[in-house]
Amino acid sequence: MTELLYQTDSYLKEFEAVIQRTDSERGAVVLDRTAFYPGGGGQPCDLGVLRMGGSEFRVEKAKKEGEDVLHFLPVGSVLPESGAAAQGSLDWERRYQLMRTHTALHVLCGTVFRDYGAQVTGGDMEPLKGRMDFEFERMQAGLVHEIEAAVNREIAQVRSLKIQILPREQAFQIPDLIRTKINLLPEGIQFVRTVEIEGLDLQADGGTHVRNTSEVGRVRVVDYKSKGAINKRIYIEVV
Ligand SMILES: [Zn+2]
Repeated sequence: MTELLYQTDSYLKEFEAVIQRTDSERGAVVLDRTAFYPGGGGQPCDLGVLRMGGSEFRVEKAKKEGEDVLHFLPVGSVLPESGAAAQGSLDWERRYQLMRTHTALHVLCGTVFRDYGAQVTGGDMEPLKGRMDFEFERMQAGLVHEIEAAVNREIAQVRSLKIQILPREQAFQIPDLIRTKINLLPEGIQFVRTVEIEGLDLQADGGTHVRNTSEVGRVRVVDYKSKGAINKRIYIEVV
């Protein structure tokens, strides 16, 4: 089982850990704790390096499997022994761009729900670019600038983000969470991590975010697409 350090500290760039096991067939290492985000909820996994046994290995991918996070090293890497110490460093520039982008998408989501009542059905991102799908029948080209202006007004409000890990029953009593389809969470999950942009948006979310909307930068709504009469996709860039 890997302790997920990024869940409580998304600004952690370097960490010490112990190798729990290795998967030589796949060239992967499982650590007792990690700051590497393993991907999920539309946010890609982190990249970076692991230093182990006097050598440095590139982490080309991280992935969650059950309770473990697997760190995939380059093909042909000679893996160290279980029980050995490891030191991890994230590709921080990329991760921080993803944090800004992920928070920008939550600002978009909160703004579009407040102003138009449209709910999110999905999303995806890469550093400084993202898209979000809404049930948003009224979306049309004329709204692009209105939405962009509203999103940037919210960012300029210097809103704090609050991360909480709540017992399932408590989380299920928050009306805003029910709106964002918390009921899709698997039965077995006992705790729900919530990400709140104070005064704007509250979601069940496992991703990494900035502390304050002032760190996001400026958002441009670059495009939108109809995916049918009701479903619309909005594309943003963060600059
Ligand atoms: Zn999210």
